[in-house]
Amino acid sequence: MSLNAKILWIFSALMGVVLLVVLVVGLYTLREFSLYTAERHARSVAETVRESLTESMVNGTIAKRAEFLERLKGVPGVQGVRVIRGPAVDKQFGPGLSMESPAGKEEAEVLEHGLAVFKATENHGARVFRAIIPYIASATGTPNCLQCHMVSQGTVLGAISIDIPLDDVRQQAITAVSLLGLFMFLTALFALFLLRRLLHPLVETANAVKEVVAQAVGGVFSGRIERRTSDELGEIASQLNRLMEFLDEGITAIGHRVGELMGYGYSCQNVGNQLVTTTEMVEGLVEASRFKQAIEEDQSKLEVYQRLAHVLGDQYDFHHFSVYEVASSKNRITPIVVDGELDAACRWCDPQILIDANACRVRRTGHEVNAVDFPGICTMFRAGDETHICLPITQSGSVGCVIQMVFPRDHGQLAKLMIPFIAVYLRETAPVLEAKRLMEHLRESSLRDAMTGLYNRRFLEEYVTTLVAISQRRKGIFSILMLDLDYFKQVNDTFGHEAGDKVLKTLAEILLKSARTSDMVIRYGGEEFLIILMDTGAEDAARIAEKIRAKVEETKVSLPGTVVQKTISIGVSEFPSDADTFWQVVKYADVALYEAKNTGRNRVVRFLPAMWKEDEKY
Ligand code: GH3
Ligand code: MG
Ligand code: MG
Repeated sequence: MSLNAKILWIFSALMGVVLLVVLVVGLYTLREFSLYTAERHARSVAETVRESLTESMVNGTIAKRAEFLERLKGVPGVQGVRVIRGPAVDKQFGPGLSMESPAGKEEAEVLEHGLAVFKATENHGARVFRAIIPYIASATGTPNCLQCHMVSQGTVLGAISIDIPLDDVRQQAITAVSLLGLFMFLTALFALFLLRRLLHPLVETANAVKEVVAQAVGGVFSGRIERRTSDELGEIASQLNRLMEFLDEGITAIGHRVGELMGYGYSCQNVGNQLVTTTEMVEGLVEASRFKQAIEEDQSKLEVYQRLAHVLGDQYDFHHFSVYEVASSKNRITPIVVDGELDAACRWCDPQILIDANACRVRRTGHEVNAVDFPGICTMFRAGDETHICLPITQSGSVGCVIQMVFPRDHGQLAKLMIPFIAVYLRETAPVLEAKRLMEHLRESSLRDAMTGLYNRRFLEEYVTTLVAISQRRKGIFSILMLDLDYFKQVNDTFGHEAGDKVLKTLAEILLKSARTSDMVIRYGGEEFLIILMDTGAEDAARIAEKIRAKVEETKVSLPGTVVQKTISIGVSEFPSDADTFWQVVKYADVALYEAKNTGRNRVVRFLPAMWKEDEKY
């Protein structure tokens, strides 16, 4: 119920009750007053009659009282007056007039007991006040009753019965009360009118405040209140307007700033509830900032990708998405995370993009690809019931990653709302990924030999702990081949250093081709190489070594104006059967190599414990 209605209801109810009470009390009081007046009137008539009768007795005209008693009926203001003669008078003076005998039980009782009766009653359909007042013998005053009446003091000499009409009085009372009621009613109406006038600005201001606050809760801060009065209400209006202006400007400014931070042409305005949107955006930015801190502390690119996948999958509830890495040098795309799975196959795009990165529209253009607004925009998307939005992560001016979000078509608008938030994450991710990529590249290059592209000795030193740990955990074995070209110095001496380099590069290629991906080929020294053959025993390793040896022997390296053919010697040892420390096994492979060199070169020699004892130099 509105304030206005409430106040009017309460006021009306209150006035109604007051009116009712005044009418009831008025009617009651007037009734009591009219009875009281009637009683006084009756007593005064009774006294006058008594005086007249006493006078008649004293003057000796009492016998002619009939005329007097008859005239009494004409007294104005009374309806009927009758004098009743008591038994004591009858006894002394003989029976009285017929009109003087008691007319009823009440009159007889008054004569008997000497107690007056006053009551309102009906008489021939008219409302009357009936008074029956006894005349009691008294010895006081002169003349007094006992001077004529031969009775004792207190004897009931007679009574007077008087009827006083009440209808007039009642009519007057009703008129008076009605007038009073009417007056009160009109006063109440007037008061109500005044109250409404006074309440009007209060109610209007209250309604305006309600409206403006409701708008503010809905994110609209442009509402203002009309200042209607210059009192406290006006002050409320002014203060609220000031507050709204402050909020309006503040929220708009925050919205602009946040929009700038969000980028992506995003604005807090005209996007539903301005306050809610701004709050969500600020929360999004805070989350993104935490995300940035976390990925900066991550060790590898993979961890960053996984964290990104967590944001897409868990935070933004995308069940289907892909994180692609673009290898710019090779024009290739690799799926890193697909639908939350690491190393999964490309699921949502034509695999063509994997071998030709430019087939990917985002990679090619560097722009968002939005199939919600432009269905079928990317021909590489494997369209089903789903649609997609793909975003680039730009690193050093080119697309380093592509983030693909896949969702049902009817979720398009919802997904679009999330894109600016996701774009913030991607913006934060870009420099971190760039730094990590650079670090990994630097690290990778410091662990590789520039000339052959093979891992170097430093890599082996770093990797050895992991290698041994993996092998021991799996209770596996591996073999080591130590390889050294025979009479290599001659190549340098005869054909020059560059020719020597070419021979080394050719040898590196042969070694890489001979090894499996799980094996490791390392340039151990100048023209010494080391191969770790995983899960391979010395016997198999010797066979592989033999193949390498034969391959090297038959390989012709073309040099300017000539062709050279070299041979290689190889030592073989096995971990952990030969020794339980890695470097000892390496040393044994070297011992076997030394043995191969000593026993004619172009040979593969399996390490034997006897070789170690024989040659104390190692
Ligand atoms: P052998 O091993 O059969 O006993 O005889 P060798 O002539 O190969 O002797 P050694 O292994 O001691 O010779 C190593 C030579 O390899 C010395 C060095 O000039 C050459 N060498 C090492 N690193 C490189 C390189 O990067 N490029 C070139 N061109 N030569 C290198
Ligand atoms: Mg050597
Ligand atoms: Mg050599």
